[in-house]
Amino acid sequence: MTIKYQKVGDILLVKKDLTGDEINYLINKTKCKTILKYNYINGDMRKPKVKLLYGTETETIHKEHGCLFKIDVSKVMWSMGNIEERKRMAYISNSDETVVDMFAGIGYFTIPMAKYSKPKKIYAIEINPDSYHYMVENIKLNKLTNVVPILSDNRDVALKNIADRVIMGYVLKTRFFLDKAFEFLKEGKICTIHYHDTLAEKIMNTEPINEIKKYAEKYEYNILSHEIHKVKKYAPGVWHIVVDAELIKY
Ligand code: SAM
Repeated sequence: MTIKYQKVGDILLVKKDLTGDEINYLINKTKCKTILKYNYINGDMRKPKVKLLYGTETETIHKEHGCLFKIDVSKVMWSMGNIEERKRMAYISNSDETVVDMFAGIGYFTIPMAKYSKPKKIYAIEINPDSYHYMVENIKLNKLTNVVPILSDNRDVALKNIADRVIMGYVLKTRFFLDKAFEFLKEGKICTIHYHDTLAEKIMNTEPINEIKKYAEKYEYNILSHEIHKVKKYAPGVWHIVVDAELIKY
């Protein structure tokens, strides 16, 4: 029997309804406590739409790259496709930096970065109270002391001129948050923005960096360098990418 599934902690996520035989097969194979049909991720807060196929518990602890992520998969999203990016973010900062994670979720990037790069401080901002609740749990679970969780719309956070690095882990509307990202950046130092977006292959190498350039000019920054990384395939011919842009104010 071949049934596609993703395993988050001891919960399985599947894309279609299953027969009783298929459910029994998966229980025996994976020893899971719950099976959920995962339909889609909805709205700005990325809330999943799910249907219980087996079991009742939707909260679990997922272990990835030595980090623990407590999550209720019926309330907040988990993207298996972003696994390599979470690992990349783990080692990209250092102990001299202050970081702002503008779309922190349950700590997808914040937790591995805080644990392995050990920046001085990560301000981890999240608007969805369910995600924020799990981020706070995950900071405790991973015994981190360098994360400041903030429950807010990032545009309402009154921090300025503080960040060596800004993570913009959000897609589709990312450009509308660039004003705020530049406000967070530290003046007089080389800073980095990690700008995520989903784009058609033929414009993914030009469109996002042109967008960042517009704001760099507006806020009087030079772009010193930029790299574009593929995170995952998003749809046919469309990629989730991240631009790492190094900037300095002139
Ligand atoms: N960075 C994660 C990853 O790649 O796995 C994905 C995070 S998820 C796509 C985006 C998160 O941003 C959601 O948890 C959502 O609630 C949060 N969010 C959306 N708009 C926001 C805002 N204006 N301020 C703060 N958080 C916001």
